[in-house]
Amino acid sequence: MKLYNSLTHTKDEFVTHEPGKVTMYTCGPTVYHFAHIGNLRSYIMEDVLEKYLSYAGYEVKRAMNITDVGHLSSDGDTGEDKMLKGAKREHKTVMEIAQFYTDAFFADCKKLNIAIPEIVIPATSYVDHFIEMVQKLLSDGYAYEAGGNIYFDTSKLEEYYVFNKQNQEDLAVGVRDGVEEDSNKRNKCDFVLWFTKSKFDDQELKWDSPFGVGYPGWHIECSAISVQTLGEYLDLHCGGIDNAFPHHTNEIAQSEAYLGHPWCSHWFHVLHLNTNDGKMSKSKGEFLTVSLLESKGYDPLVYRFFCLQSHYRKSLVFSYEGLDNARVAYDKLVARLAELTPSDTHDEAVCAPYLASFAGAMDNDLNTAMAITAIYDVLKAKISDGDKLWLIGRFDTVLSISLIEAADKKRTEKNAEKAEKETSTGAAGSDDPFIAEIEAAIAERAAAKKAKDYARADAIRAELLSRGVTLIDSAQGTTFEIK
Ligand code: AMP
Ligand code: ZN
Repeated sequence: MKLYNSLTHTKDEFVTHEPGKVTMYTCGPTVYHFAHIGNLRSYIMEDVLEKYLSYAGYEVKRAMNITDVGHLSSDGDTGEDKMLKGAKREHKTVMEIAQFYTDAFFADCKKLNIAIPEIVIPATSYVDHFIEMVQKLLSDGYAYEAGGNIYFDTSKLEEYYVFNKQNQEDLAVGVRDGVEEDSNKRNKCDFVLWFTKSKFDDQELKWDSPFGVGYPGWHIECSAISVQTLGEYLDLHCGGIDNAFPHHTNEIAQSEAYLGHPWCSHWFHVLHLNTNDGKMSKSKGEFLTVSLLESKGYDPLVYRFFCLQSHYRKSLVFSYEGLDNARVAYDKLVARLAELTPSDTHDEAVCAPYLASFAGAMDNDLNTAMAITAIYDVLKAKISDGDKLWLIGRFDTVLSISLIEAADKKRTEKNAEKAEKETSTGAAGSDDPFIAEIEAAIAERAAAKKAKDYARADAIRAELLSRGVTLIDSAQGTTFEIK
């Protein structure tokens, strides 16, 4: 499989440390508010990646953190603590906020068919490991104490800007955009590992540590959780593109300084979902959540389908028009599948080339849009309905847009509608001799009633009833039910 690697800036052959096994780490949500659909674009694409690796035969071990402490409103160690901000906004404790929005995040994932990673670690449950890592960085000379805080010393590294060889000055300024400078830092890109002399006197969560009572910086949590749960060599690290700098850059700095060897070989970054006005926001403009889309009548899976239609390495603009188009395409796809007749068997040889074209799309840097084209190719192919449904079912184990379930549901609904129609119309013009006989009897009874021969009409009704046929008279005419 070829997968773009932000470290090398090329589509690399995906190679793992241990053959057949993948260790995968995902930066999880900061649980101070609902996730917006931009955040969820990243999780959808990471979910597809994990499912495809499993589909391709890898044994995947995946971990994700939940950021419930330490993430400041600027990724560069300044601004307000996001969790504290959330707690103040809702007049609750930080832990109440964390629990509520962690549950909300998982509920959104469920609606979008995003599988929860095998290992999920709230940062607050791993503070001992963060402290241990900071201690080692201090004793190995990679960290220093200044003004009460512990900082990582980026000047100790041969290379700090691992993802981007652009003007280092510009990048550094980007980090400090619009915020005050921290005069404790020896180098402009040094970052906080442990806060004690925090400017947040009201910081709710604090822990005792060898460096004083305080709390961890944001970056350390992902390094420590990843190393602890997935080991010293990580195959794949994921996140949205905004995480690349400084978060992932700092993760690499401290993990490699701590381990003493290269750490993660492959970096997967999902480009952003934006609005027509620009950046997706939780505070300005329409706060686009899954619940909002549902309240407007959209199935969350239509949003997933919308995301899959684009490549993860292209930024995507969200619009309701775009979502409407995705809904029409999704509904048509389900309707076409519902026309097919399910079967318990499929032909391996017939299916093989279609599986190959799906794998070809996904092996080419996770090209989900091409994978969707592979679905249409199957639908157009001159192969049996059973083969079509089997193939699309296989693809959907990766794409997870519930195509087979939605088609089954639609088929059942259609059959029920048909049965109801047949009952209510008495299946006019039926080839079945018994039905034809009933229809003739109903017609004769109607004529008898018209001629005011009620005795004959009642006799016909009684005769049919003795044969299990109940007549139902209404303003629209007579229908029947067979027991
Ligand atoms: P956060 O909850 O802010 O820590 O972000 C959770 C994930 O969403 C991270 O992987 C971010 O990189 C990612 N993310 C943030 N904004 C967007 C966006 N507009 N589009 C796609 N991913 C995003
Ligand atoms: Zn992270």
